[in-house]
Amino acid sequence: TNLSTQLRNQTPLRCGRSLEMESQKPIMFDVEKFDDDFVQNLVYDALVWSSLHGLVVGDKTYQKSGKVPGVGMMHAPIALLPTPFPEIHWKQACDVAPIFNELVDRVSLDGKFIQDSLSRTKKVDIFTSRLLDIHSKMLESNKKEDIRLGLHRSDYMLDEETKSLLQIEMNTISSSFSGLGRLVSELHQSLLRSYGDHLGLDSERVPKNASTFQFADAMAKAWLEYNNPRAVIMVVVQPEERNMYDQHWQSSLRNTHNIVTIRKTLAEVENEGRVLEDGTLLVGGQEVALVYFRSGYSPTDYPSESEWNARLLIEQSSAVKCPSIAYHLTGTKKIQQELAKPGVLERFLDNKEDIAKLRKCFAGLWSLDDPEIVKKAIEKPELFVMKPQREGGGNNIYGDDVRENLLRLQKDGEEENAAYILMQRIFPKVSNMFLVREGVYHKDQAISELGVYGAYLRNKERVIVNEQSGYLMRTKVSSSNEGGVAAGFAVLDSIYLN
Ligand code: ADP
Ligand code: MG
Ligand code: MG
Repeated sequence: TNLSTQLRNQTPLRCGRSLEMESQKPIMFDVEKFDDDFVQNLVYDALVWSSLHGLVVGDKTYQKSGKVPGVGMMHAPIALLPTPFPEIHWKQACDVAPIFNELVDRVSLDGKFIQDSLSRTKKVDIFTSRLLDIHSKMLESNKKEDIRLGLHRSDYMLDEETKSLLQIEMNTISSSFSGLGRLVSELHQSLLRSYGDHLGLDSERVPKNASTFQFADAMAKAWLEYNNPRAVIMVVVQPEERNMYDQHWQSSLRNTHNIVTIRKTLAEVENEGRVLEDGTLLVGGQEVALVYFRSGYSPTDYPSESEWNARLLIEQSSAVKCPSIAYHLTGTKKIQQELAKPGVLERFLDNKEDIAKLRKCFAGLWSLDDPEIVKKAIEKPELFVMKPQREGGGNNIYGDDVRENLLRLQKDGEEENAAYILMQRIFPKVSNMFLVREGVYHKDQAISELGVYGAYLRNKERVIVNEQSGYLMRTKVSSSNEGGVAAGFAVLDSIYLN
């Protein structure tokens, strides 16, 4: 082929390409073969590129970096090179994105299913219980959401043994990194354009990623549907946010769509917000067309009653909510587990092929009511993950802790069981990768998780947007159970199709 001729004609390189790479398709790199000087050059270029293009986060050592933009910035933690990913599974993940979007929308319409599925969780999980209370209030007042905007990210790991793409979870609130994710893809494309020949890699094999613009477009279209040129988009934010640049990328739609964006904490919404009789949401005197939540997914986002009041106020208004309380609850782990039960998808989707495609991505998911599974998990805890109804990373239970917790729950009585679900542990392939953090690269044994964004917009019966909207790979050291880019274990990454 052209490529192998090209490779043969090249002078030997310091990174030392192995011979078999010439004949094999796909051509893959082996991090062991690069010398430090070569990698340092790549790292240097990656850091310059990141700084110039806004692939940045707040620097945690700088006190004001979570509050004041433009001070205390650090390049985002990144994988130096894109991670190989089979094209067939990439296509599969893209293919199911619109089906998952539709599923979330359908499930959100079934208030009884949401309430029933979470009824036992409600008794033992105060946070979920508060969300369900808001949801109940909306059901009682027969609140209708005509304009429905979902900006989701469905996460997958590729199980090494079975070679199957399995869903980790579906995020329906505050799906992060659609801003920075696009930049990582562009960074990798740029590095491969410069160094691709040396590496034996083709920049075209990093899929184009327009996540930022696709989410921004979906938001702009929701704003248009609301149909008041004076109304603003309100981003609900945490009081301190070192991932603010990811969010600002999203709001940079102001420039392209001429929409004013304001950023408010839930506490500020409680202070400055009110809902008029006709449902109009005013915050600081400005009419809000769309509320986009980048806060409100975790108990710590509600330190007092003020924040809960704000969440309720927003929900009661006629502003478009991304997400609505129903979309938010549809993204809980418990609902994920209920949807995986036999026959449940059929309640929400008609198309048999679509149902089969979704089911193919479902890993084993169980409620703790199932004594067989609990017994198995106590015997072999390393094959399971125990999950509470939480978002944002760092909440799951692994390994021996699974056993301990299950034994504790058996003693303490059954009620507490409903706070958790059990999930089959997925074991993706472990590879050596270059991870770059705070200007320094490390060679680590790492595993990856692919997130595929999905945007959905509907006004009454008219579906305006339903699409796959870019992607994000996150790579973490394999010794860490949980990812967490912000927590310092995972880095942002893109994919190299093979
Ligand atoms: P969160 O909503 O807090 O992000 P997740 O379900 O995504 O919760 O779990 C957090 C992290 O834990 C994931 O990013 C992944 O690294 C790891 N994880 C979750 N479920 C599994 C699983 N079934 N097998 C292996 N790792 C998992
Ligand atoms: Mg999540
Ligand atoms: Mg997650």
